[in-house]
Amino acid sequence: MSRPICPTCQRPTKVCLCDFIEHIDNRVEVGILQHPSEVGLVKGTAKIAQLSLSYCHTWCGEDLQDLPDLVEWLGDDKPVFLLYPVIEGQHEPVKFYEVTQIRHLHAHEEIKLLILDGTWRKTHKIMMLNSVLRGMDRISLKPCTPSAYRIRKQKSATSLSTIEAVYEALSQLEDDYLRYQPLLKTFESMQQQQAVFTKRPK
Ligand SMILES: [Zn+2]
Repeated sequence: MSRPICPTCQRPTKVCLCDFIEHIDNRVEVGILQHPSEVGLVKGTAKIAQLSLSYCHTWCGEDLQDLPDLVEWLGDDKPVFLLYPVIEGQHEPVKFYEVTQIRHLHAHEEIKLLILDGTWRKTHKIMMLNSVLRGMDRISLKPCTPSAYRIRKQKSATSLSTIEAVYEALSQLEDDYLRYQPLLKTFESMQQQQAVFTKRPK
């Protein structure tokens, strides 16, 4: 028998996130390109952004050729910044912007942010497949808080889960940490909920 699924958050009803979600009117528009292997993962955190933020689009795929809606989203007149670190060993003629530079250049409502959702290996593959993404202006982000992601292996305390990256980017770009605090609160609730189900009897 299949597990009952919540029609709103699309998660199994016993780990439904809906009660934890607080809606936030974000100013910087967010786009999330999700690697297909992330879809439906109970540990995935992009869902929190999708359910909480007023302006958040999600696409699923690896190759932009299969994602005309994303290509269109990237091509309208608002500048889009990609959140992705320097690719080691690659000489990249791309421009990295500090948050303060972006804030100085643009109003919040004028920019969009694209985030890749997946493991390091999967997002790296997406980058390698798409020269359009490799050529995009990037935002370099210094996380203010170390990652609180306990339910998935992190490479280091500064490797952030997708929702933490969304939180850091939006709160830094809009200079409003309080506004985005609910994202972390929901993330914490999700992890606590998860811990209950993964705890094995001794
Ligand atoms: Zn739900």
